[in-house]
Amino acid sequence: MLSGRRSRLAGQWFVDATGDGTVGFLAGADYEVEKTGHLGTSNLWYTKDTGKPVPFPRCPWALDLTEKPFPTRLDQLGHWYWESGFDLDTIRDAEAIRDHNLRAMYGAWDCLKNVKRLYPNHALAWAAYVAGKRESRRLMGDVVLTQEHVLSGFGFPDGCVAATWSIDLHYPDPKYAAASPGNEFLSVAKFTHFKAPYPVPYWCLYSRNVPNLWMAGRCISVTHEALGTVRVMGTGGLMGEVVGRAAAVCKRHGADPRDVYTTYLDEFIALLKTRTRATPSTPIPMPQDFAGAVGDNIAPLAKVTTSGERDGSAPAEAMVDRTADQGDNSGRWLSNAQTPLWVQLQWDTPRSLVAARVISGYCRGDAVGDPLEDFTFQYHDGHAWRDLPGAAARANPRVDWHARFAPVRTSRVRLQVEKTQGNIARIWEIELYEPRP
Ligand SMILES: Cc1cc2nc3c(=O)[nH]c(=O)nc-3n(C[C@H](O)[C@H](O)[C@H](O)COP(=O)(O)OP(=O)(O)OC[C@H]3O[C@@H](n4cnc5c(N)ncnc54)[C@H](O)[C@@H]3O)c2cc1C
Repeated sequence: MLSGRRSRLAGQWFVDATGDGTVGFLAGADYEVEKTGHLGTSNLWYTKDTGKPVPFPRCPWALDLTEKPFPTRLDQLGHWYWESGFDLDTIRDAEAIRDHNLRAMYGAWDCLKNVKRLYPNHALAWAAYVAGKRESRRLMGDVVLTQEHVLSGFGFPDGCVAATWSIDLHYPDPKYAAASPGNEFLSVAKFTHFKAPYPVPYWCLYSRNVPNLWMAGRCISVTHEALGTVRVMGTGGLMGEVVGRAAAVCKRHGADPRDVYTTYLDEFIALLKTRTRATPSTPIPMPQDFAGAVGDNIAPLAKVTTSGERDGSAPAEAMVDRTADQGDNSGRWLSNAQTPLWVQLQWDTPRSLVAARVISGYCRGDAVGDPLEDFTFQYHDGHAWRDLPGAAARANPRVDWHARFAPVRTSRVRLQVEKTQGNIARIWEIELYEPRP
């Protein structure tokens, strides 16, 4: 965007979060657009008190608001409702809409300072030169969410994004519109309330005719009216998280966005229930007695498989996601209730290892208990599985168990779980460390 250079990006899946649905549009995705009477575009601005008289030049090229009504108090200037372009093409005419907003801003300030002689010590302090769009193309998915769905609380089986903002549509404010027909620059919001939260279905987050395309943000599959609720930042951000998790499911199975619904819905919903991490890349602190003695934890680089998969559990990758919030059970991988079982970590190439850690158990309020009781770490030497010397426990009492061992080189490690409370392995994290470089 900064250089204006064209780049060609290759990939298996794409997410259109461009607001304007540009990626989908260029790829031939079905879309809808409200040609007129859509939400407008704003360029926010504000003034500041400079503490001394400050002039402002006349602006003959700005809107002449001398005889026109507009909000004149300082606390009314430059807010969201300085909005225009309701009947223009928000993509093709984006710059004209922005210019109109700026002409309204300069015209208002010119009128206030030079005609009405108000605010002598105030100056324009800032204006957004990038216009904030609220509505443009909406890419069509297998479901197009409507106002009726939202108001009636219609329950889709794949509801996954919580919409909580009321349906918030904007119109030219009739208080001012009559004075500037066709050139309105002030809006009013009309709210339609519904029983929140409303779970927006996953069906709205992928294109109905471009098989490898998701949408997130204001270009998802909704009508103009339903956009009125989903278009806010928290909801749009949540869509990004949901699509990211759908992408994880697709990557695991080599599937396309629609397959997440048709084939992997249970797995997807289980994944959605795992806790969102505010700082997913923050590693858990290394055990103190490892510090300076071992290198990196390479478990997150491994492919994880298990013999104890169970429906509704977090995916096995939760055991190597570098997070282990022992106050939150939802971040764990849970096995089915059949011990013995194994968890395997496999790398593409052999790696050297000198230490292991497993954080396991069950949080009951303030106390964390029920760690894996009997377990053994093993490595594959190319012919057979062998115990990692010193990396085993019997009647283990520690929810954060770790041990160092003599270096081994292997591309496969298994955690063999022999005994655990209720035969269920409850694992927040597994770590395997390389030697210190
Ligand atoms: C004035 C105003 C006030 C608002 N107030 C609130 C509020 O108080 N609370 C709230 O929750 N919501 C508010 N909203 C609504 C909310 O901010 C927007 O609906 C939301 O930000 C839309 O997010 P988005 O990511 O879907 O789209 P956008 O914000 O439009 O973001 C799309 C992004 O994609 C980039 N992009 C586009 N095309 C390309 C391309 N080809 N290549 C690379 N990048 C591209 C753009 O540069 C942009 O950064 C407000 C909106 C406006 C305009």
